[in-house]
Amino acid sequence: MTIPTDIAAAVRNAVNQERLIDTAVQLVGIPSPTRSAADVSNRLAEILQQDGFEVERPEAGYAAAPAVAVRMSSGAIGRTLQFNGHLDTVHLPFVPPAVESGVLTGSGASDMKGGIAAAVEAMRALRDTALLPRGDILLTAHDLHELPWGDGSQVDGLIDAGYVGDAVLLPEYLCQCLPVVGRGLAVLTIRISRDGEPVHEMLGGKQQPDILRAGAAVITEFERLDKELSQKTHPLAGEESYFFGKITGGEIFNQSPTELTLQGTRRWLSESAIDDVRAEFDALLQPIAAARGVRIEGTFQVARDAFEIAADDPFVGAFQSAYASTTGSALPIGAKPFVDDGNTFVRRGGIPAITHGPNATGAHTVNERVPVEELVRVAQVYALTAVAFC
Ligand SMILES: [Zn+2]
Repeated sequence: MTIPTDIAAAVRNAVNQERLIDTAVQLVGIPSPTRSAADVSNRLAEILQQDGFEVERPEAGYAAAPAVAVRMSSGAIGRTLQFNGHLDTVHLPFVPPAVESGVLTGSGASDMKGGIAAAVEAMRALRDTALLPRGDILLTAHDLHELPWGDGSQVDGLIDAGYVGDAVLLPEYLCQCLPVVGRGLAVLTIRISRDGEPVHEMLGGKQQPDILRAGAAVITEFERLDKELSQKTHPLAGEESYFFGKITGGEIFNQSPTELTLQGTRRWLSESAIDDVRAEFDALLQPIAAARGVRIEGTFQVARDAFEIAADDPFVGAFQSAYASTTGSALPIGAKPFVDDGNTFVRRGGIPAITHGPNATGAHTVNERVPVEELVRVAQVYALTAVAFC
């Protein structure tokens, strides 16, 4: 649908930059490394309560930091658009908030407290103008997002407890395309070990099961499979793959070690079932262990499953009209290069999810920077998507 020009202008004008930035600064100002987002969640709940919203605090499986949820109704029956964000940040030294030359900096400014503040502001603009024609906004914010400290399970808990809309927007720092597809990701850890102690090469070491060669055999086997998997490809999302980025083992050059660890990734497309992908990984290890006389234990830690939504889904159309009404053009359809909670909303919640946030930089570093005008733009796009979708 096209959003009437006067309504679009009124909603956009209702986005209050000062109020948005005040919220963002308050959220960035409270340290919240993953698993410790209780204080910032409490602060967000207070901000929303002071604003007159009715706030719920579902535990969603993590009582140490209950999530924050607000439902804002238009009063007329329609669809529910959810805005969902994570309040936790990666474990790096805390950087306090600052706003200088139109740029917000500090821990979580880009990933993703700035985005959450924009979503909150979108909800306020809709409330203040009463221009949401029908349906509801559901705002949810939570902990346990960032790997490896979090496992995404609080989003599972929210979905299972019914805190899920008919579609969801997630304000992660992705804005160059409209991601309708993304690969799943698992973090792989493979531990190869043998009985006994480390021993000198010339004092029996050479006769021990060779841990390093077993590691090489594992890498070679996964390289073979990686080549095979490259046949499974998606025009936007790319290929399925195995990748190893870390190897640890051995102590000195002429000693037979007892242990070696490999770490890497497996990425897959939504046509592959997660259980099959895991089973394929498990099945590869034991034949190598048997052939080499070593023990091999593999862990397959799922970050998020793969997802795909229809490019002609009405939600995509609603988002595009909101985006065009704000920026003057449509956003090209593309793939999500990383995994996030949007994958979970599609796969577990069964609803379309669009990750769209500010053009921010420095995520997962101590130099997060997000332009204030980008946060305002995101708030406008979110509010107008609700007008078009609900
Ligand atoms: Zn994030």
